[in-house]
Amino acid sequence: MAGILLLGLSLGLRTEAQSLILAGLMAPETLAIATLCTLGGLGLRFYRSTPLLSVERENPPLSPVDLSEQANAEAILRDNEERFRAIFEQAGVGMAILTLEGHFFRINQKLCDLLGYSRLELFTQRYHDLLVDAAHDDVDALAQMLLTGEQSSYCAQQRYRRQDGSWLWGTTTLSLVRDGEGVPKYFIGVIEDISLQQAAFQEREAAEESLRALLNAIQESAFLIDTHGVVLQGNQAIAQRLQIPLKKLVGSPIATHLSPDIAQVYRHQAKTVLNTGQPSQFNDIVEGRHYENSIYPISDRDGHISRLAVFSIDLTESKQAEDALKQANAQLLDKVAQLELRHQEMVLLGNMNNFLQVCRSVAEAHRMVADLLRPLFPHCSGELFRLNAIEQWMTQVAAWGEPHTSQSQFPMQHCWALRRSQPHWGTADSAGLLCPHIHRDQSPAESLCLPMFAQGEVVGSLHLSSHIAGSLDEAKQQLAHTVAEHLALALASLELRETLKTQSTHDPLTGLYNRRFMVEALTYELQRSQRHDLTFCVVMLDVDHFKQFNDTFGHDAGDLVLKALGQLLRQNLRETDLPCRYGGEEMVLILPEMDCSTCYQRAETIRHQVEALHLETDSQTLNGVTVSMGLACFPKHGQTEAEIMQAADTALYTAKHKGRNCTVVAGKLSVAGRLPH
Ligand code: GH3
Ligand code: MG
Ligand code: MG
Repeated sequence: MAGILLLGLSLGLRTEAQSLILAGLMAPETLAIATLCTLGGLGLRFYRSTPLLSVERENPPLSPVDLSEQANAEAILRDNEERFRAIFEQAGVGMAILTLEGHFFRINQKLCDLLGYSRLELFTQRYHDLLVDAAHDDVDALAQMLLTGEQSSYCAQQRYRRQDGSWLWGTTTLSLVRDGEGVPKYFIGVIEDISLQQAAFQEREAAEESLRALLNAIQESAFLIDTHGVVLQGNQAIAQRLQIPLKKLVGSPIATHLSPDIAQVYRHQAKTVLNTGQPSQFNDIVEGRHYENSIYPISDRDGHISRLAVFSIDLTESKQAEDALKQANAQLLDKVAQLELRHQEMVLLGNMNNFLQVCRSVAEAHRMVADLLRPLFPHCSGELFRLNAIEQWMTQVAAWGEPHTSQSQFPMQHCWALRRSQPHWGTADSAGLLCPHIHRDQSPAESLCLPMFAQGEVVGSLHLSSHIAGSLDEAKQQLAHTVAEHLALALASLELRETLKTQSTHDPLTGLYNRRFMVEALTYELQRSQRHDLTFCVVMLDVDHFKQFNDTFGHDAGDLVLKALGQLLRQNLRETDLPCRYGGEEMVLILPEMDCSTCYQRAETIRHQVEALHLETDSQTLNGVTVSMGLACFPKHGQTEAEIMQAADTALYTAKHKGRNCTVVAGKLSVAGRLPH
C-alpha cells in the first residue's frame, strides 16, 4: 500500500522544514500536515488522515509553550524524523521526493531496487526520463494540474525503464506538497511494483483474447454464460444469429434474446447441467432452422461450475441435405422397385407371347389367356372379348378374377373403347362414363377397356377392373395397352394360321375336307386301323341328277344345295368322322372305328335327312334333292386305300344303277330307300 505524504512548510523556515522532511515524519498510508509555527518557539500540529497513522488520535493544536515545552517538542520532532526516515527507507514500495522540475531529490532503497539504478544514477535523471511510453507533454500536463490545484494527486499505472533496459510496471501515486501558504514545494511519488499483477492481467487478457479468437474461429454459434444466464463471451456467429451486436449481447441475459419457449428450454437445460455437472444436448427449431445445441459446464478452481459453454450448430442445410438424400434414396428404391416390377412384367409378357405362339388353335389360346394375364394385373379381374364380325357382337372368351363386372355378351356400340377406338378409363366416381356393358350394380373402383386391333380392324377387347383403387395405375394401364396389342396380334396370327390351315385342307363351298386331305386321312386311318386292328368305313355319296338340277334351278342354286349338304354332313357326323368333298357333287365320308352295319344305318339317316332338305332362295323353293351312296368297310371290302375306294365306288355305281336315292354296301346288291322317280 502506498502512503502519501504532504508536508507543508511555513515560509522562511526552509532549514527546519528540510530537516523535518529528511527526518521523515510520515508513516505509510498517512496523510499529515505539519505546520511549523514561530510564535516564540516551534509548534507542531498533526491531523490524522488514516487509521494506520502512528499517531492514533487527532492531536489538538498546541498552544504556545515555554522553553521546556519547546525542548519537549524538539524531542518529539527528532523522534518522528527517525521514524519517517525508517519508514521511508524500509517501505515495501518505491518512494521518491521530486523537485517541481521533476528531479529526484530523495529516493528510498526500494525504488533503487525496483529500477536497478543507484541513487547517484537516479539523482542525475528526471522522473520523465524513466517513463517508457508516457508522453512528456502528458506528464507535464498532469504536473500542471497538480500545481494549479485542479487535482491534489494522481494515480496511474506506468511503465518505467529499468537500468538493464527492461520495464517495470508500477502504480504511481504523485502528490504535490505545498507550504503553509499553498505555495507548491515539491512532489512526493510512490511507485508500487505491479509487474506481477500486470503480468497476470496480461496473461488473463491474452487468455481472453485467445478465447475470443477461438470462439470467432468457430463457424457455429458459441458463447459463454454465467450461472445466471448472462452472456460473458460470444462469437460473431451467435451475434448474427440473434441479430444483435456482439457488444450488446455480452453482458446481457441470453434469455432476453430468445423467444419465451426457447428461453424456457435453455433455462431447463442449463439447470440440468448445473445440477448434474454433465453436458447436455438438445435440438430446437427457430424460424424454420434446425439447431443442435450443446451445453458444457466449466468449473472454477474450487470445482464449482461457474460458467457454461454453449455451442449451437445449425443443422438446417445438413438436415435438408440429409432429407434430400433420404428422399432421393427413397425415390431410387421406388424406381428400383418399379424397374423390378417392370422387369417382372416383361418376363410375364414374354411368357404370354411365348405360350400364345405355340398355341395350336385360337380356342386353346383363349383357354390360356386367363392364367397368363392374371399375374400381370394383381387385384384385378379381367375379361377377353372377341368380335363376331358379322353380328357386331362382343363375346366373352376368357375371364379371370372376381367379380366379372361386364356382361358376357354385348353389342359393339356398348363399349366406349370400341366406339372411340382408344382405351377407355372409368372410375366409380364417374360411373356415368363407365361403358354400358359394365354392370351398374357392381361398378368397380377402376375400369379399363382396351380395344384390340389386327390389321387396323377391331378383333376384340380386353376389359380390366378392380375394386381396389390404384390397382390400375398409369404403369399398369400402359402395360394393359401393351398386353392388348400383343394379345390381338397373337390371336390374329393364330386365327390366320387356322384359316390358312382350313383353306389348305377344306373345301370352301361345302366346308368339308378337300380331296387332298381325304387321301392323306384315308391313308392315316388305314394304317391306324391296321395297327390297332380296327375297322372303319368309307361312304361314297353322289347327288342324283345334279346336272339336271343345275339346269333347272341354276348353278347358284346348285351351289346352295352343295353348301347345305356340307353343313348337314358336318352336323350329323361324329367329331372324329371326316366328311370330304371328293369332287363335283361327290362326297366321301371316312368313318373311323365303325362297322358296316352301323355305317349303313348312319348312311341311311343321312340320306333321309338330305331327302328332307328344304331350301329357300329369294325366288324359289328347292327340295327333292336326293343322294345315292356306296359303302365299303375295312378290312372286309378292301385292304388298301384303292381297293376300299374302288369297292365304295362300285357300290355307288350299283346304287345309281338301282335307281338312285339309295345306299348300297359293297359286295352286295342290297338296295335301300325309294327308287327315284
Ligand atoms: P347322276 O345322278 O348320274 O349322278 O347324274 P348327274 O347329273 O348328277 O351326274 P353328272 O356327272 O352327269 O353331272 C354332274 C353335274 O354336277 C355336272 C356339274 O355341272 C355339276 N356340278 C359339279 N360340280 C358342281 C359345283 O360345284 N356346282 C354346281 N352348281 N354344279 C356342279
Ligand atoms: Mg357325279
Ligand atoms: Mg350325280
